[in-house]
Parts: sequence; structure tokens; C-alpha cells
Amino acid sequence: MPFISTRGGMQPQSFSETLLEGLAPDGGLSVPESMPEVDGETLERWRALTYPQLATEVLALFATDIPRQDLARMTADAYAGFPDGVVPLRRIDDDLTLVGLSEGPTLAFKDMAMQFLGQVLEYTLEKQGAVLNILGATSGDTGSAAEHALRGKERIAVFMLSPQGRMSAFQRAQMFSLDDENVHNIAVAGVFDDCQNLVKKLAGDLDFKRAQHLGAVNSINLARITAQTVYYFWAWLRATDAGGWAEVSFTVPSGNFGNILSGFFAKQMGLPIRRLVLAANENNVLDEFFRTGVYRPRSAAQTLATSSPSMDISKASNLERFIFELVDRDPARVVGAWDDLEAQGFFDFSAERERFVEEFGIVSGTSTHDDRLATIRAVYEASGEVIDPHTADGVKVAREHVEPGVPMLVLETAKPEKFAETIHEAIGVELGYSPELRAMLDAPQHVTEMADDEQALRAFIQEHARH
Ligand SMILES: *Cc1c(COP(=O)(O)O)cnc(C)c1O
Repeated sequence: MPFISTRGGMQPQSFSETLLEGLAPDGGLSVPESMPEVDGETLERWRALTYPQLATEVLALFATDIPRQDLARMTADAYAGFPDGVVPLRRIDDDLTLVGLSEGPTLAFKDMAMQFLGQVLEYTLEKQGAVLNILGATSGDTGSAAEHALRGKERIAVFMLSPQGRMSAFQRAQMFSLDDENVHNIAVAGVFDDCQNLVKKLAGDLDFKRAQHLGAVNSINLARITAQTVYYFWAWLRATDAGGWAEVSFTVPSGNFGNILSGFFAKQMGLPIRRLVLAANENNVLDEFFRTGVYRPRSAAQTLATSSPSMDISKASNLERFIFELVDRDPARVVGAWDDLEAQGFFDFSAERERFVEEFGIVSGTSTHDDRLATIRAVYEASGEVIDPHTADGVKVAREHVEPGVPMLVLETAKPEKFAETIHEAIGVELGYSPELRAMLDAPQHVTEMADDEQALRAFIQEHARH
């Protein structure tokens, strides 16, 4: 499967080639040249598969340049540390079922893609005799998932920027307790978008990028998007095991539009998804876009620090891949939209607004701090389940979009233990930590504090990169 850029200026690349790229050379994002299709018969055949086997089938449609037995070994290794079944579904009431994506080492859904990415990166670098220095920005969960997937790898180093003081104590501990020599935590004085802008500047300097073997594993990484499509198939299969073929809807707590984009891919591939419900927190640029058709990213200063911090974004990098489909894959119109954005601070697709729902099935909603607390409390009182604040945003917005006869699956994007303060605020319960988590929280932390300063970052990378 060749991959092309949303802005039309890239020679088609293989899956392995896109692995090592962040932005395409023309500033766009890579997408499959055509979406692979999965018919009903194939879906039925996939019911019998384990999660790693299903992942092999789905990923083989994209990673056509990797031999299938190698893919099978990598998916088996990637999900070996997960509990049986990998992604459990739990019904919390008559209307909603949670899809458990947080069973991996960092207790958040990003492990689902990152554990596979760690495998396939190592595999590809070994084949090429190459090294890779991952430069990323995180508002919490991406960073720890990347570091836990890449720690100790011989051909890879990780440079992870995070916004100083914006992550929970647990998220900090999860990243900063790692003392692997190939893991570099850098706390930047700024918010997530400042971190992301630093990454964009360095990755946009093609000479520096080449000399330092820079790559990305942030949510624009296409291998992550494709690995995430797997659990939409899995969840659909498990939700319909008893009744057979049926449309289902998914609600996705969203930030950078990565997770829900994978659902969008799955829908385009033929999975019977009725609605993809985008749940935002107070930083609701995406809800605004899907309601009005106007996309108006906010400044870093306008980004609120909320109690669902992994969704605190003001600019959604992956939205460009949706826009590419919205403009019927016309790169000139994608470039035009981003030119508008540059010139006037927004772009306007209000004329296409009905298509968001009718053609693509996407609807949206916003959840606030009070909504999160009320939702965590209500779910706890009704079912005894404790859900994390991001999942609570999902549950809140999902309820607004439940339709009779259509199962609503809410993606559980993190475990509540990661956000103990908010859980306590909501239900007055102190969540206990396992001995492993306690040890992690008490371990010495390893982090370099840095000003929002491109030159300082360049110097640090030059000194510590794999060569
Ligand atoms: C990253 C993250 C999100 C947002 O996912 P996107 O792919 O950026 O939309 C939501 N919840 C949690 C817990 C996350 O870690």
C-alpha cells in the first residue's frame, strides 16, 4: 500500500518509510493512497481471531511491505504483556459499553499503538542498519507510552518534551522515573502547543532532521493511526458476537483527533459504524468545528489546564487527514484551507456541514469539569465502576447521542489511578495503588528543565542523540 501526502507533494512511500517520518516533506500528513476495504464475509471470518491475530490481519492491509509472519511475531510480542483478551468490553448500563483500551504498561490507550510501534521500529531499523532519535511533545500519555515502548532499545533514543507543571503527579512519575540511558525527559516552560511548536521547528529544518536522524511518534504517526484501527474492529466484533451484523456507534474522548481518526479509517474500510461521537473537554475547538464547520485553533495562552489534561489541545494535528477526505482528496484544497488558517486564523467548511454527519457519521459534544465529576459520580453510584476523567467526558457526551437499537461503545482511554485527585474530588474515594505503582511514584525522577528555546533544544539533542 503506497502512502501519499495530504498536500500532494510527496513521492508515494511504503509503510516502513512512513514509520520514520513525522510531517511529510511538503508539510502535509501521509495517508493511504486508497483505503483498503474489508467486506462482511471477512469480518465474520475475523470473529475467531485473538487480538494479536486480528491486529496482524488489519495491519497487513497497510503494511504490505512487511512479511506477514514478521507482522504476526510483532503483534504477538506487542500485546504479550496485556491481560487475556487485550481489550475487554464492559457494559455499564443499558445504554453504554466501555471498551477497555488501558490495560497496557502506562494505563492509557496510547499503549495500544505504541507497543506495536516499538516493535516495528526496531525491526525496520535493524533491517536498514539505521538509528532513530524520536523527538516528541506530550501532554502526558503519549510521552509515557512512547518511553515505555522504546526504553532500552539499542537503535532508538527518545527526547520527550512536556509542559512544565501541566501533567498530573502520576503522569510525571510514569515518565520521569525511567532511568534508561536512551530516554530523555525535557520539561519546557510553556504549554503543550509550545512543546509541539518546538518539535515542528526542529523537524521542519530538514538538514538538522537528517543529521540527527530525527523521527516522530506523536499522534500524526501513521503507524499509530493504523494500529489503533484494530480495536475498532475488535470492539465491533465483540459487541456483535451474540447478535451478528449490526451498526454500532463509538464515542471517543478526543484531543489531537488521532484516536477518532482511526475510527474514521475503520468506517471507511467498511466497518459498520453508524456514528463516531467526538467528545471534547473545555478546549473544544473540535466540537466547535464539527458543529459549525469553522475551525479556529486557539493560542497556547487560550488553552485551559483541565482535569482531563490529555485532551488539553487547541490545535488538532490530525484533522488535516479528515479535511483531505472532506475535499474529496484534492490536495490543492487542503493547501488552500491551511493558507486560510495562516492568513486569517480560521478556515470555514460550513457549506459542507451536513456531510460531516450524513457522509462521515461524525457528531460531537463538550464536557466540562463539573460534567466529569457528575459523570464519575453517577457511574460509580449506578455500577460501582470508577472511570477516569477522559472516559467520563466520553460517557457524558455519549449519553447525548445514544440512539435506540444502536449499541454505543465508549472508548475508555485511561485508568482512574492516573488521575486520583479528580477521582477523589468526584466520589471522595482514595484509590489504592498496587505495590508496583507505589514504587514508581516514589522513585527518583529524571528530567531536564528547559526554557521555550529552540537553540537550547538543538544543543541538547546534538549531544545526546544516537548516531
Ligand atoms: C491522548 C489521549 C486522548 C486524546 O486522544 P487523541 O488521539 O489525541 O484524540 C484522550 N484521552 C487520553 C487518556 C489520552 O491519553
